[in-house]
Amino acid sequence: MHVTDLIRKKRDGGELQRAEIEFLVEGYTRDRIPDYQMSAWLMAVVLRGMSRAELAALTESMLNSGKVMDFSSLPAAKVDKHSTGGVGDKTSLVLAPMVAAAGVYVPMISGRGLGHTGGTLDKLESIPGFNVNLSTTEFRRVLGDCGTAMIGQTPEIAPADKKLYALRDVTGTVESPYLICASIMSKKLAEGIDALVLDVKTGSGAFMKSEKDAVFLAELMVETGQRLGKKITALITDMSQPLGHAVGNALEVAECLEVLNGKGPKDLRELCLVLAAWMFLLVHRVKTVDEGRELAEEMLRSGKAKEKFRQMIKIQGGNEKVVDDSSILPKAKQHVDLASADSGFVAAIECEQIGTAGVLLGGGRAKKEDSVEPAVGIIIHKKLGDRVTAGDALCTVHYNSTERMENALPLILKSYTIAKTPPELPTQIYRVIGDVGLGTFVSAGT
Ligand code: URA
Repeated sequence: MHVTDLIRKKRDGGELQRAEIEFLVEGYTRDRIPDYQMSAWLMAVVLRGMSRAELAALTESMLNSGKVMDFSSLPAAKVDKHSTGGVGDKTSLVLAPMVAAAGVYVPMISGRGLGHTGGTLDKLESIPGFNVNLSTTEFRRVLGDCGTAMIGQTPEIAPADKKLYALRDVTGTVESPYLICASIMSKKLAEGIDALVLDVKTGSGAFMKSEKDAVFLAELMVETGQRLGKKITALITDMSQPLGHAVGNALEVAECLEVLNGKGPKDLRELCLVLAAWMFLLVHRVKTVDEGRELAEEMLRSGKAKEKFRQMIKIQGGNEKVVDDSSILPKAKQHVDLASADSGFVAAIECEQIGTAGVLLGGGRAKKEDSVEPAVGIIIHKKLGDRVTAGDALCTVHYNSTERMENALPLILKSYTIAKTPPELPTQIYRVIGDVGLGTFVSAGT
């Protein structure tokens, strides 16, 4: 096979065979194919797209470029959730203990903040002592002992994705739903899971701003996962405003603890319950989504989810006292309220700008090598539809550096639209797409 022939074939809209895709992925991962040829092929994919068979072959080749975990010796099913990323999107910290508390294994390999969106690893690391850098052997041990483990990607998992992602990042080839699908699914399916629930975000704070694009990506991921023998359901969920009230690593952990303690913002709690319900359903822990939701609620009500989180924090080296006392979390040096200039209703929030403001405060990274400041962030007091009187605090900004705060404030202020009439409120879950063993279906929103 010649790489140039495969580049030409894709450039001209042809369909590559499985063996040809394997040749490209293996050759690139093992440094036999240079960056310039792989870049040309990736750009051809961006422009021409892929067939579903090509996409499954690409995902499988990337998955098999590294270690695929086998947890078949564990006595119950394994399930995970993946979110395409949002602002204040913190459900993993509630879901992993909630689902594990009901006897289903949750092996969760997560990422760091990307662009304006936060990442689970950065949030977990704001818990003093918490270690996300476990080896795959330690990951297996924690999962077996605790029922859940939350770690970062190890070098053994999908190395092809690591190399390809770095190349895409500098060649304008990130924004292809096919490449995004293969990247996400190759990493998630290496976790040795039986089923996966995808939380595909849409709206001003999501990568997929339109529902149509979110649905397209969700359909690709569902079908790819199914072709690789997994049960997959995707929920298309709202990201036209931050989820919950907290944006920023330690602030978000504190909010998750509120939910685990039976309180917390309604939208965050609701999304966690629904995602958990689908996770239970996919692995046949329950027979219906309603039953799954009841089980998830029971895990919160009984305190079992909270105790599971305590156990996981302890076993991964963190200070488990945080579960009862969130004041242990790092605190920013200063905070300031941001007042509304107008009276009316919150009609829109430019959610991506809120995320970017969080990055400017130091809560995310401008460059890959940057470290994050765990304590900084924003507490949103006024959300879509809320009535506002001029002078009311729209949000509180927690900061360590006055210069950073001054850069972030205008962005936050600009992100709010106050109107005289209340807006139509978004639905939290627009659609469910997937397979629950009852056939593939698409349902209307809830
Ligand atoms: N997240 C990933 O893991 N990969 C992509 O390509 C995009 C987002």
